[in-house]
Amino acid sequence: MSLPFVLVVGAGPSGLLLALMLGQQGIPVRLLEAADALDDRPRATHYAPAAVQELRRAGILEEMKAEGSFIPNGACWRKLNGEILAGLPQSTDPDQNPTPLTCLPLNQLNMVLQRNIAKLPQVELLYSHKVTGLGQDDTTAWVHVDTPDGAKTLEARYIVGCDGANSQIRRSLFGDWEFPGFTWDKQIVATNTYYPFEKHGFDWDSNFIIDPEHWFMAARISNDGLWRVTYGEVGGLSVEELQARQPAKFKAFLPGHPEPSNYKIVNFSPYKVHQRLAKKMRVGRFLLAADAAHLCNPFGGLGLTCGIVDVGGLFDCLAGIYSGQADEDILDIYDSVRRSKYNTIVNPTSSGNIRLLFEQNPETALQDSDFLRACKAAETDPAVTEKLAKAAERLQYDFTQHYRA
Ligand SMILES: Cc1cc2nc3c(=O)[nH]c(=O)nc-3n(C[C@H](O)[C@H](O)[C@H](O)COP(=O)(O)OP(=O)(O)OC[C@H]3O[C@@H](n4cnc5c(N)ncnc54)[C@H](O)[C@@H]3O)c2cc1C
Repeated sequence: MSLPFVLVVGAGPSGLLLALMLGQQGIPVRLLEAADALDDRPRATHYAPAAVQELRRAGILEEMKAEGSFIPNGACWRKLNGEILAGLPQSTDPDQNPTPLTCLPLNQLNMVLQRNIAKLPQVELLYSHKVTGLGQDDTTAWVHVDTPDGAKTLEARYIVGCDGANSQIRRSLFGDWEFPGFTWDKQIVATNTYYPFEKHGFDWDSNFIIDPEHWFMAARISNDGLWRVTYGEVGGLSVEELQARQPAKFKAFLPGHPEPSNYKIVNFSPYKVHQRLAKKMRVGRFLLAADAAHLCNPFGGLGLTCGIVDVGGLFDCLAGIYSGQADEDILDIYDSVRRSKYNTIVNPTSSGNIRLLFEQNPETALQDSDFLRACKAAETDPAVTEKLAKAAERLQYDFTQHYRA
């Protein structure tokens, strides 16, 4: 490939989606991935309506359905004894709810994206290409890359860091420790677990359990009985310590208080929980998107949703520059809009959500939490249901309004 217009660093969901959307417009893209295969750790599963709209623009919703995506029937908040405090149902009727929150485990979404990229000759995906540094001048940006054939320097007109929470692009631009925000003192453990929750009265697809010690989430993530069980743990424990504590934790908090022989864990991954936003999402010819630019706790389902909305906006900006419909200044608008959306929507909403699970007294949560009161009201008032369901749409912004007239 001669000089690509865009070089994307990181073939996670955000990098794959950006490369796909640009490639579909005939824009030459090179995508570099440090690993030798796609990541299959248990991470995102649920994509809010704002993200689903971008996945629709990329033309992959039908393929996601064939891969096993489904529309959850809603979310509820419970006490540890299973008692429901409030529920937020989701309509599965496409006329009423054309872009519903959709569930598909991230590794399956990545496979759909990768398959579609493979059909585009103008997109080149290179595995085992680890970016180690960068530079730029008035016309070009470049990255230094470790490859199986030795160190190389690869150039493009624009370079996008989609390289995740530890982004080398972000660290090279601002310094290794310059990622403003904080890390929670609690950690979480995400598991994919086969367990018959339905037999224990869990007929909502997503369940959030409010408890000072045993706060957790149980969400159905497949049509064959696989559930994502993510639970809170004290900070500072090693993976071995967390694994040793897991059977007692499940026995204490899962409905039915099962023994290990009653369930099957197929993935087990501890995570630290962060709330962080990069200083800028544009520095000259370099841009940041998704986890490379911002992190939030995973319980609100906003991490990748927000990343996918970044990608849709950045696609409009870069495609506009490529076609001559937009000036380069549009990238400054991308920077300020996306960071302000994070600060006003994702940051407070998402941290509020995780606090709700362990900071509220379950006995008084329904009176104390504005959010739960609104969910309760939604049970009888469809207008409140619609307002809550559409809250994540406030993440979106139409950058094409800044194209030249
Ligand atoms: C338990 C859990 C549950 C979650 N659930 C949800 C959910 O339901 N909904 C939601 O919206 N979000 C959720 N999230 C968040 C979501 O998973 C992340 O936001 C998303 O995976 C980030 O995607 P990304 O493409 O930005 O980064 P990543 O998926 O981290 O991909 C980055 C890629 O860049 C590559 N890379 C890194 N460094 C380099 C380098 N130097 N050179 C080249 N390549 C490099 C990596 O190998 C990787 O493939 C969850 C997170 C967790 C932990």
